[in-house]
Amino acid sequence: MPTVLITGASRGIGRAAAFAFARDCWRVAVCYHRAEKQGLEVVESIRDFGGLAYAFQGDIRSPEACEALVAAVADQFGPLDALVNNAGISLPCQFQDAGPEIWAETLNTNLLGARNMIAAALPSMLVRKQGAIVNVSSMWGISGASCEVPYSAAKAGLIGLTKALAKELGPSNIRVNCVAPGVIQTDMNAALSPADMEELAARTPLCRIGQADEVAEAILFLASTRASFITGQVLGVDGGFL
Ligand code: NAP
Repeated sequence: MPTVLITGASRGIGRAAAFAFARDCWRVAVCYHRAEKQGLEVVESIRDFGGLAYAFQGDIRSPEACEALVAAVADQFGPLDALVNNAGISLPCQFQDAGPEIWAETLNTNLLGARNMIAAALPSMLVRKQGAIVNVSSMWGISGASCEVPYSAAKAGLIGLTKALAKELGPSNIRVNCVAPGVIQTDMNAALSPADMEELAARTPLCRIGQADEVAEAILFLASTRASFITGQVLGVDGGFL
C-alpha cells in the first residue's frame, strides 16, 4: 500500500485529493494548518469507508515544521511514495496595494512552502530511488491574473520549480509534475460574487466552474504509477479556459 502526504488536505482540492487517494488504496497523511476540525473529519470519513488515514498539523512556511511533519508521517506510515504540495493562499489586490507583507506571505506559502516540503521529503526518496511529487499551481501561473500579481508570480515559480526539479531528479527515478487548475468551487473563491463566478464560467469552454474532485483525479493520476513515464509536465485542469 503506497503512502501519500497531502498538504492543505483539510479543505477544498486537498480534501478531495485525500478521498481520491484513499479510494485508490493509498495510506493518506492528511495535513492541515489551522482547520484541525476539518482535517480530523476528513480522516474519520476515510476510515468510515475502510481507508487508512491519519491527520498531521504543520505550517509549510516553516522549514523546521515541514521536517517535523515528514518525520511524523514516516513514524506513522513509513517512507513517502508521493508528496502532493497543494496548500496555498490567494490574497487578491491591486499591484499598488500589494506591499512586501503580501508578497512575502504569498511567496512563502505558495512557492517556498512547496520547496520546504520537498526538501524535507527528498532525502528518503533519494535513498529509495523512488517517488512522485505533484505540485498544485494554477492557470494564473501560466496566463497571469489581474489583481493577483504575487499569486500569479508564485504559481509561475512553482511551474519553473517543477520543470527544473524534474530534470534534476529524473536520474533518481523521482518524478515531478504539476497541475494547473482553472476556477474551482472551493473556499478560495468564496469572496467572488455570484456574478463574477458566472462570468468566469461563461469564459470557460466547458461553460462551468470546476469541482475539487476533478482536480483530485488529475493529481492522483500524476502521482500514481499510471503516469510512470511522465515528468516535468503541467496538466491543465481548467475546462479549456487557457
Ligand atoms: P482552500 O480551500 O482555501 O484550502 C487551502 C488549504 O491550504 C487549506 O487546507 C489550508 O489549511 C492550507 N494552508 C494554507 N496555508 C497553509 C500553511 N501556511 N501551511 C499549511 N497549510 C496551509 O484552497 P483550494 O481552493 O482547495 O486550493 C488548493 C490549491 O489549489 C492551492 O494551492 C490553490 O492556489 C490552488 N488553486 C486553486 C484554485 C481554485 O479556483 N480554488 C485554482 C487554481 C489553483 P487550513 O485550512 O488547515 O488552515
